[in-house]
Amino acid sequence: MNEPKIIILSGPSGVGKGTVRGLLDFDDLNLVNSVSWTTRDPRPGEVEGVSYHFATPEEFAKNVAENGFVEHAGFANNAYGTPRKPIEDWMAEGKNVLLEIEVNGAMQVMEKYPEAVSIFLVPPTVEDLGKRLTGRNTEDEEKIKKRLARSVEEMKYKDKYQHVVVNDEADRAAKEVADIIKGNVNSDN
Ligand code: ADP
Ligand code: 5GP
Repeated sequence: MNEPKIIILSGPSGVGKGTVRGLLDFDDLNLVNSVSWTTRDPRPGEVEGVSYHFATPEEFAKNVAENGFVEHAGFANNAYGTPRKPIEDWMAEGKNVLLEIEVNGAMQVMEKYPEAVSIFLVPPTVEDLGKRLTGRNTEDEEKIKKRLARSVEEMKYKDKYQHVVVNDEADRAAKEVADIIKGNVNSDN
């Protein structure tokens, strides 16, 4: 069996991280998804314990104080974090673990786990990103503006990732991500 790997998937909000993740064959990749904690409200259709663990700011702060996160970061006025225990347990079981996280958290994970595989998903064009974020219909105009402004900052980090994948077509991008996880692709950076 290969050594279990941490796979970091980042990219600006609305680029299609969740979509691409949903197209991966987790069994084939021996992969499990890390369920993050967040203080933001659930979106319609999101399920506690599957999409996220939805926590109050107090619960989140308590877990930070207890060193319960591998990384945590603020994003659009909310806190997000990767719980430590599930990752350690899964890796001990030989599973690869997928973290879909923003750039500041990703930098923390790369520092703690230098052997982690890092992937940055980019849109074909900036216009596509705006269209996708608006088309998802989950944020109001002000929040979309905030996320788009943040995406300019996030894109600056792409060269810190080993792999940059263009999400032009979701199936194609998912196949490229799967090939990277399988170790079949040389790094871009
Ligand atoms: P993220 O998780 O990065 O915030 P999502 O996966 O929620 O992004 O995708 C944002 C929106 O873009 C969704 O409405 C999704 O259906 C759409 N989308 C994702 N990938 C593509 C693609 N390759 N081409 C066109 N639309 C896409
Ligand atoms: P959303 O609110 O759209 O679900 O997520 C906002 C951003 O937070 C996305 O870039 C997503 O990847 C990131 N994110 C989700 N979970 C975590 C986490 O545990 N840690 C960090 N640092 N970012 C996260």
